Parts: sequence; structure tokens; C-alpha cells
Amino acid sequence: MAIERVRETLRPQFVAFFEPLKAEGGMPPGWLLYDIETDQGVSLVFQGAHSTFTIELERSDPARACLARTEQFNVYYSVVDRLDAARRTYDVDERKLFETVVACVRAREGELVLTDAVDWSARVRVREVEVSRMLAPESPRVYYMNAYVGCMIGCPFCYASHRGDTSRWLEGLPKSRWGQWADVKINAAEVLRRECDALEPGIVRMSPIITDPYQPIERKYQITRQALEVFLEKGFSPAILTRGSLVARDIDLLARFPKAAVGFSVPTDDDRIRAAVEPGAESIEVRLDTLRQLRDAGISTYAMLQPMLPLDPDRYVELLAPLVHAIDIRPLCEVPRLSEILTQIGRPGPLEPGWEEATYATIRAAFEARGVLVNPPNEPWAYFR
Ligand code: SF4
Repeated sequence: MAIERVRETLRPQFVAFFEPLKAEGGMPPGWLLYDIETDQGVSLVFQGAHSTFTIELERSDPARACLARTEQFNVYYSVVDRLDAARRTYDVDERKLFETVVACVRAREGELVLTDAVDWSARVRVREVEVSRMLAPESPRVYYMNAYVGCMIGCPFCYASHRGDTSRWLEGLPKSRWGQWADVKINAAEVLRRECDALEPGIVRMSPIITDPYQPIERKYQITRQALEVFLEKGFSPAILTRGSLVARDIDLLARFPKAAVGFSVPTDDDRIRAAVEPGAESIEVRLDTLRQLRDAGISTYAMLQPMLPLDPDRYVELLAPLVHAIDIRPLCEVPRLSEILTQIGRPGPLEPGWEEATYATIRAAFEARGVLVNPPNEPWAYFR
């Protein structure tokens, strides 16, 4: 395994890149540039009078639909309206802000040093990265943290992999096979201690979006465990989501928090399907057993059913309902590779019209009848019993 030690460059580079937005008149009035994140491509989070507006840059790909395309990037947005939770599309003010950001990107993208190099060798690449920040603010008293960037569980359908590719491309690194590289935030505990002293205590979400907090290299580096030690000392509450039974190693620590929640991604009850779709991840049986250990230790437990793979709804609910207090069920998402895998193993059910809606309705009713919260609206707070 090739290991190198580097200092983080990407986030400082993009904080400088977007300086023009912070200048007088750089943005439409009424907006605050709240955060810039670079673990998964580039995300800018803006706070307005009644909404949080997020703009994301990914490497330009004409095959993927987006709201705007510059020479180098596809540009996306998402909106959370504090007064109208159902609203998903931008309003006039958000559109103006979006156009301002796109203009800034177009004006400056020529300065970026990018590469089209690829490295398909089997070499595993681990970088120990000295970072300058760990906690990304999400909303008042809710933070997000990635202990690593890149995931060696390497699910072939992973919908975050192209975002990881974008971050490496922006750093001028060759594109490597997903699952064969990871950046370890080597000084995480030191940075977190400083950040926790300066922030109001709250919930820290640690989820497998661009990395799994309990992927195999956590056994060696223990970045997630070190983070938990800091959170316990500073009065923050972890809300973890994982596919890794290594979380059982930390039950001693998790049980000492006044509030801690651990969720498992459980996309099916059928381990043959799990093995085809998530070959590098642990079996459904191991995940259920780990949930049992966590629940028995008094830790709040929940599950995530996303993507929903072919499953037996009655058996699924029977296995999980006794082990969790809440479950999130989300749609399939944009997972073209997943469709291909399911078709190859002769289980394309989820692709048929109506399958997902019908299965969702059945599962939802069955979980609710067993007293399990389904899609709690105030997550992550609802994950804590
Ligand atoms: S565990 Fe999650 S982050 Fe890791 S490869 Fe699988 S889907 Fe992607």
C-alpha cells in the first residue's frame, strides 16, 4: 500500500477562488456565504432570509443533466426552505444568486490546473492529509464530518464516487479506481478539539456519503474513534451511519454519551443481492447482529433503506423492527450502475414502474404498526430515542 503525507490544498484554494463573492456587491443582497466544502467536488452553502441554498460543482459531464454547465463544471443546486419544507425548486432570488456564482466560476475556471490523467493500476493509495477544518456546519447545532475522503468498501454503484473523482481531478491527481484510494484526515482530533471549543455543542453527523466512518482502514487509523473521544469530552452528540461492524469496537465509548445514535444501511434482507451490489461490504446478518449489540448497550439505533433493493417486505420488517427505533426509506436515486447489476443477476424488479411505491407503502405501514418511526421529519434529532 502506497502511503504519502500531504497538507490539504483544495479547500484553501476554493475559499480563495470564491473571494469575489464576498467583496462588496459580489452577491445579490440578503445572502451569506455560510460554508465551502471540497470533500465531494465543491459545495457552497448560502443562507438567505428564509432558505439554505446549496450550489454544487462537479466535473463537466454532458451526459448528466444539470442547471448550468461551464467549460469545466456541471453546476447543481438544492434548496431547503425554512417556511415551506415541500419546496424543491429555486425562486427568483435564488436564481439570481445561482447566476452570480456561475458567472464567478466562468470568470475564474481558466486559472485552475486540472488533469485528465488516469491510473487504473491495482495499487492502493492512501494519503495522510493534514487538514485545517473538520466540522462542516449544516444548520444551527448540526454539523457534518468526514473522517476520511474515499471509501475502500468500494461499492460499484456508489453514487458518491464521481464526486470523489471530481475532488481528485481538482487537485491535479490522476483518476483512480473507486475503492482503491483514501485520504486520511490524520490530524482530525487536534482540529476537532479546537473547533468544538469555538462552536455551540450539537449533533455531528458521520455518514457514508463520500466515505464510511467504519471502513477497513479505520481499524488502523482510528480517526472516527478519536473524534468520538473529543465529542464526549466537549459535549457533542454523534449520529453515525455505516455499513461497518467495526462500530462495535466503540460501544464502550458510545454508551457513555448522554445521546448517541448509530444507524446501519440495510438495503435488502437477501444477502445474495447484497453480495452482488455491495461485494466489499459486510453481510446483512453481521449488520443486524451489530445493531443488536448496540441496542443492547442502550445506544439509539436506526436503519437506512437506500437504495431499496429487491427484498421480502414481511421478512425485512420482521428482522429490523425489533432492532431500530427509526428508519429512513429513500428512493433509488440516480444509480445507473445499480440497474445494470440487478439486471445481470436477474432481479430487475426495482426498475419496474410502481415497484418502489408499492414496496414503500407496504414497508412503511408494517414498521409503523410496530412502533418504528418512518422518515422522521426532524432527523437527525429524531434518531435519538
Ligand atoms: S459504503 Fe457508502 S461511501 Fe463507501 S463505497 Fe459503499 S456506498 Fe460508497
